[in-house]
Amino acid sequence: MRTLNQLNFNNQRAVVRVDFNVPLNDKFEVTDTTRIQAAKATIDHILDQGGSCVLLSHLGRPKGKDPKLSLSHIVDTVAEVLGSPVKFCSTTVGEAAESEASKLAPGTILLMENLRFHDEETSGDVVFSEQLSRLGTLYVNDAFGTAHRAHASTTIIARFFEENKCFGSLLEKEVLAIDKVMEKGEKPILAILGGAKVSSKITIIESLLDKVDHLIIGGGMVYTFTKALGGNVGNSICEPDYCDYAIELLEKAKDKGVQIHLPVDVLAGDDFSNDANQQVYDVMEIPEGWEAMDAGPKSQAIFHELILKCKTILWNGPMGVFEFSNFAKGTIAAGDSIAEATKAGAFSLVGGGDSVAAVKQFGFEHKMSYISTGGGAMLESLEGKTLPGIAALK
Ligand code: AMP
Repeated sequence: MRTLNQLNFNNQRAVVRVDFNVPLNDKFEVTDTTRIQAAKATIDHILDQGGSCVLLSHLGRPKGKDPKLSLSHIVDTVAEVLGSPVKFCSTTVGEAAESEASKLAPGTILLMENLRFHDEETSGDVVFSEQLSRLGTLYVNDAFGTAHRAHASTTIIARFFEENKCFGSLLEKEVLAIDKVMEKGEKPILAILGGAKVSSKITIIESLLDKVDHLIIGGGMVYTFTKALGGNVGNSICEPDYCDYAIELLEKAKDKGVQIHLPVDVLAGDDFSNDANQQVYDVMEIPEGWEAMDAGPKSQAIFHELILKCKTILWNGPMGVFEFSNFAKGTIAAGDSIAEATKAGAFSLVGGGDSVAAVKQFGFEHKMSYISTGGGAMLESLEGKTLPGIAALK
């Protein structure tokens, strides 16, 4: 893996693919700067060495040129977060863009217009990729969030830099964190998978069965197992078409020596709402009219014991409907237990969509070893896939 330290940026112009796909409000103000902050280390490294940065990013999913999704809206915020002035170029490729880029003095930053104003970006067009490559002398990819896409700026562009390309520090951290779980995890290794549906997690579960010692299954996925094992799910979310698969999975896990842990009790509501009446039930005996929406207290205690015994912990997906505060206890308890295990020396990685949101919402952000910044890219890594953006740098 070629990292920032292996290239000399002095007097070089680095084309840096960042992920500035940030949320904007009605007034086009950035409402969450996490992704900009995440790219700061890489940009600072290049500037400190006497290089300059040409920043490439997409924003949203524009169909052609859409002024609402212009990166011009974020220039001031980027400058503020990076603590350096940032110039904006209203085109992305072509003579004017190349001319702007070529004027960059060492230590300065130019942000190009939204890559996705060109359809050639997502189609991975070679000519467009070559045009992008002309904006600088070195290429750095620091956009983990799009590393699973074979787009022009994330993958194809790398062809035009031969040896002069490397991982940015965010991409490096993400890859090392995944590696620490999937390849070099200290045993016992535990994966906690939650979320709504078994069907959306099949490839991850299959891939994790070859890597982990324990697998906790939580969230809405549980009730497909309950039904498969002959229990009553009441009104709980359930995918009957996947019951056979659930049984197959339990058998596969047994063959591979992986222990699967399902909740033993659940907190159910008599309506899908935060204010529903609540009742704890055995996971196999959820009555009609009741919908299981969280792990119950006995399950939380059992999971706590297990989590504290493990040295490597991966968490993807909430343990219940954490968006309802009255059904968030199971998710909070899992977060508390992982935080305690981490404090005691375990390596914990949280990744993929809603678990990251939950971790931030409940204040566990600084209590985990690593929180991934990339939803889809993280999930594909856990599925054991090689991400095209990463393969292109090797
Ligand atoms: P995923 O994107 O697959 O990780 O799923 C996350 C979603 O699963 C969250 O919005 C949760 O509210 C939802 N979820 C978790 N547990 C349950 C449950 N028992 N019933 C319904 N939805 C659930």
